[in-house]
Amino acid sequence: LTRKEEYYVIILGLDNAGKTTLLERIKSIFLGVLGLPQDRIAPTVGLNIGKIDIDRARINFWDLGGQRELHGIWEKYYGECHAIVFVVDSTDKDRIEECINIFEKIITNDEVEGVPVLMLANKQDLPNSLKVEEIKEIFNKIAIKLGARDSRVLPISALEGDGVRDAVDWLFVRIQ
Ligand code: GDP
Repeated sequence: LTRKEEYYVIILGLDNAGKTTLLERIKSIFLGVLGLPQDRIAPTVGLNIGKIDIDRARINFWDLGGQRELHGIWEKYYGECHAIVFVVDSTDKDRIEECINIFEKIITNDEVEGVPVLMLANKQDLPNSLKVEEIKEIFNKIAIKLGARDSRVLPISALEGDGVRDAVDWLFVRIQ
């Protein structure tokens, strides 16, 4: 029995971005769990964990709470992560500035220097969502702060599953 290579990916973003839904969707796609619970998933209050196996790798996803008062605990996980997923609610134009500020704080933290960052423009199933190109444009002003690391913006619908497999594939290639 060969041991799995363990990798850690943290899922960050404002509350209501869709982090919990994304994690459940990843599990349902990669673990074959049928469907999502029909009732609304409660806003993240602590830490949700999901593990999936791809080839020899075990990827541990940590969904950290998005509520403002919890941002302080994010940093405790920075030192151990192999990649960061930052989920954006593409329909929440009112909080896009807040989103940029938090994203900037994350990527300029010394602990995660060089760590690949995947930004997910979530809720693409909704007609009023900003498109991936618009999100890129908005975040362009701080893109220079990403420094030398792999980064990408991909469109997803965590709810419907569109783009989620591509997102995990992107991560899988980067963390190995
Ligand atoms: P979190 O606070 O970041 O964990 O966000 P949740 O996963 O709890 O999602 C917040 C709300 O957005 C819930 O009502 C979800 O059903 C909804 N949601 C999440 N992802 C999507 C999506 O891709 N499309 C749509 N239409 N709704 C979504």
